[in-house]
Amino acid sequence: MSAHILTREACPACGHTTFRSFFKRSFNEELLQKYMFESYQGNANMEILKDVDFEIVRCNACSLAYQKYILDDEMLDELYDKWIDPVLAREWTASTGESVAYYEKIFNFTISNLGKKPADIKVLDFGAGFGDSLIIAKRMGFDCYAFEYSLERIRYMEQKDIKVITTDSNSDMLFDLIILNEVLEHVSDPCSILKAINSRLKQNGIVYFDVPDCAAIEEKMAVTQTITSEHQFKAVLLAANVCAFQHINFFNNKSLRQLLKKEGLKIMSPFKQAFTTPISIKSFVRPFYRYYIRTGFYLVKS
Ligand SMILES: [Zn+2]
Repeated sequence: MSAHILTREACPACGHTTFRSFFKRSFNEELLQKYMFESYQGNANMEILKDVDFEIVRCNACSLAYQKYILDDEMLDELYDKWIDPVLAREWTASTGESVAYYEKIFNFTISNLGKKPADIKVLDFGAGFGDSLIIAKRMGFDCYAFEYSLERIRYMEQKDIKVITTDSNSDMLFDLIILNEVLEHVSDPCSILKAINSRLKQNGIVYFDVPDCAAIEEKMAVTQTITSEHQFKAVLLAANVCAFQHINFFNNKSLRQLLKKEGLKIMSPFKQAFTTPISIKSFVRPFYRYYIRTGFYLVKS
């Protein structure tokens, strides 16, 4: 195996070592090389992918699906700051990111759930990206902080006057609301992230959590067998929430519940959200649907 490639010998969520492979291709294939070229605008380091498989397996114990061969931390930094063009990434986030209304809903729920004024609520967006959520939270009067890996994104947020913390700075600071939105599918060790989140959360604090729902990944990926065009290949993968080396963990409700339980977090009772005004049939039913089926919800300490 080439340098910068790590083999995940055990499930990154539960540590179990037996799995079933359901997708296996080689980066030596022309189709996959074209797919990588298109996905990263020609910036991907294809040298290190020689003789490497693009393989996705499912854990026999907790049912998490995960990419078996991944990049090491050094190469991941390169992926997020160089393979992905920072300017394009900013434009892409601005056009496809969450809406203002999406974040306002989270912040309004936090105010009513905690019964505190925004100025007294400390918010941390973990994996804040370009700080879109915090720009809104700041405007609403919250005390805001960001944690982010990518230096390009940190620079961007600092220009926008958003306070950025590092893993060792402000080590005693605890938060009322932590946003962990579309982070866990990207990281090699989701357990360590959840541990960090739990240790930074106040006793009555809440976590807004979301990852792509990959319950149907196997059915969606099965189509790739007959595909010969890289555009189509990329489209099918995106529809399955798969993006080589960026999305490396594929959660469903079951695998997520086990992982959260192990890390001392639990999904907030849907009743707490169902009665948040204004009440409609949709606003009442949605929290239950998310609780039992989906992969996005509020978490509390268990
Ligand atoms: Zn597992």
